[in-house]
Amino acid sequence: MNDKGGISRRAFGAGAAGLAALGVAGASERPARPKIIPAGKPFILTTWDFGPGANAVGWPMLAADASALDVVEKAINHVELLGDYWVGAGGVPNEVGETTLDAMIMWGPTHDAGAVGCLKRVKRAISVARKVMEETQHSLIVGDDATRFAARMGFAETSLTSVVSQQAWDKWAAKGERTNAFDPEPIGKKGEPVSHDTVGSIALDAAGNLCVGCSTNGREFKIPGRVGDSPIIGAGAYCDQAVGAAVATGNGDVMMRFLPTYHVVELMRSGMEPQAAAEATIRRIEDAGYRIDGGIAVIRRDGAHGGAKTGWKDTPFSYSVQTAAGNVKIPVS
Ligand code: ASP
Repeated sequence: MNDKGGISRRAFGAGAAGLAALGVAGASERPARPKIIPAGKPFILTTWDFGPGANAVGWPMLAADASALDVVEKAINHVELLGDYWVGAGGVPNEVGETTLDAMIMWGPTHDAGAVGCLKRVKRAISVARKVMEETQHSLIVGDDATRFAARMGFAETSLTSVVSQQAWDKWAAKGERTNAFDPEPIGKKGEPVSHDTVGSIALDAAGNLCVGCSTNGREFKIPGRVGDSPIIGAGAYCDQAVGAAVATGNGDVMMRFLPTYHVVELMRSGMEPQAAAEATIRRIEDAGYRIDGGIAVIRRDGAHGGAKTGWKDTPFSYSVQTAAGNVKIPVS
């Protein structure tokens, strides 16, 4: 009980001690999948070319009965620490040359989520998001205060700038141009390409629990303080334990206006197949007149999956799914 006489989130979601405090018999590490939902067969899905590598980290964990929560965190940590330009430390500087991170994690059994936006000077953004979920009643912490929160949780502060991100910013700044974030909205016709990427992972574990997460350093040369779609629940990622989960990537400033990952999961709940649901969700953004680059990948808890994109004519968007049968990489057209 909290001091207002209610049930605290930690008691609700954070493990055996909390459940025991609630008088739940046989409390396990985290609340279990309701019996009515079939367990299903484990899988991990990860977006972009990060897929095979991240899945190779996550799959052995799933095969050893790890929790989908740990699997998603570790698969995404792997990508965050690669030194890739588009995700994690050492990439995509903002308008003043600083790299900042957005990430979110969502746990199916409790519909619990945690996220950080514009996180500075801390590398493993998805792990900080997990701390928000597990250690607080909040869902999203941002900016320097997210950094202070991470430090309280024991994370080391370090520069997120690399030689590559510094050079990219130096080159851009030397042109003396204003960030394209001040350009007109991409409605009716396509604007200048806006460069960015996100890694998204979805896992179903042997116990039948579903988890989704995503992490990004956002949009190149963004206005300082900008937070994209990735840490917004239902925009960057979403999961529903009874149905499935989805992750998004692309122009988050526009995509978040449509909550595409929430939308696609709800379409599946109403009976639509994953591929048709993904296409309908992306079409909704196009039908509103937006001409952007963006995509989603979605997976139902029985393992059926689909993906759709808008724009990205010359950019091959893909996602990879690993099951006991192996890893398949699916190009999205
Ligand atoms: N959606 C991310 C953002 O706008 C970037 C991306 O996935 O391309 O921050």
